[in-house]
Amino acid sequence: MAVPRNRTSNARKNSRRAHHAKSPKQLATCANCKNPTLPHRICISCGFYDGRKAVDVAVGN
Ligand SMILES: [Zn+2]
Repeated sequence: MAVPRNRTSNARKNSRRAHHAKSPKQLATCANCKNPTLPHRICISCGFYDGRKAVDVAVGN
């Protein structure tokens, strides 16, 4: 197996990791209740997806 000949400097290591930043989560707005939801997921507050009720949402828990 290949073994690195030279130690990677802190500057080279850090500039390689310059592209590793985490981007914020994208949120869509529910067309029914206007709450923020994840895109292409059933709304967790009202159970709607694509303009119709997809699941019943349990109330109280
Ligand atoms: Zn909703």
